[in-house]
Amino acid sequence: MSIRIRSRHLIPALLACAVQAIPHPAALAQDPDATDRRFREAREQMVALIEARDVTDSATLAAMRAVPRHEFVPADLRDRAYADHPLPIGYGQTISQPYIVAFMTEVLDVDPGMKVLEVGTGSGYQSAVLAELDVDVLTIEIFEALATSARARLRRLAYDNVTVRHGDGHHGWENEAPFDRVIVTAAAGYIPPALTEQLRPGGRMVIPVGSVYGVQNLILVLKDEEGALRTQGLLPVRFVPMLEGLR
Ligand code: SAH
Repeated sequence: MSIRIRSRHLIPALLACAVQAIPHPAALAQDPDATDRRFREAREQMVALIEARDVTDSATLAAMRAVPRHEFVPADLRDRAYADHPLPIGYGQTISQPYIVAFMTEVLDVDPGMKVLEVGTGSGYQSAVLAELDVDVLTIEIFEALATSARARLRRLAYDNVTVRHGDGHHGWENEAPFDRVIVTAAAGYIPPALTEQLRPGGRMVIPVGSVYGVQNLILVLKDEEGALRTQGLLPVRFVPMLEGLR
């Protein structure tokens, strides 16, 4: 009789322990440490793939390893943040594919302390990758709503060396020129003259050029010390178009 009473109390107690010992997947998803670990591992895998392709610059790879890409995508797409493809960020725009971000960063070849103009802030991810390389980033976005959210996100993540402006990048950023580097992350039909004018002698620019629906080419523009321009095609790419007129 007494044994039966004891076991009746014992079984629920054991079950309670078992429930505590094996966390429910939902609880795991809400555990910030476990979530951080999962994103960090996904990020490591992403960088390993980028490295296996052909990006070898160690500073670029370290920057890609440092920026929490999942913070730059809509909350419902976080689980896909580290896969090697672009993702929608609203307003018909996208955050670029990680490999392309790394490739463009490597080709831009920045040194600490440089002043870099970016056209096409979008989520702010490319700006953050550049900011990890200790440069000053000035970035222009044509959608006011995207400029506002990227500015808030970059502040929250303490990227204090990035300044976001709402504007049309075709005109560059006159009163901040000249720039050591210029990076354009939307496809232009032509290289905007204001951008080459605002590039300092000896500077370089990376820009996708081509039609919206046809072939686009990633172009490296080199400006020599005399101000002469030389261009070099690097890679066929597909970017969203560079728009005209503020939104
Ligand atoms: N670098 C971004 C990629 C954004 S996609 C990132 O890392 O998330 C290209 C961005 O360029 C879009 O946000 C689009 O709104 C913006 N854009 C298009 N035309 C522009 C223009 N003329 N001036 C500034 N931004 C422009």
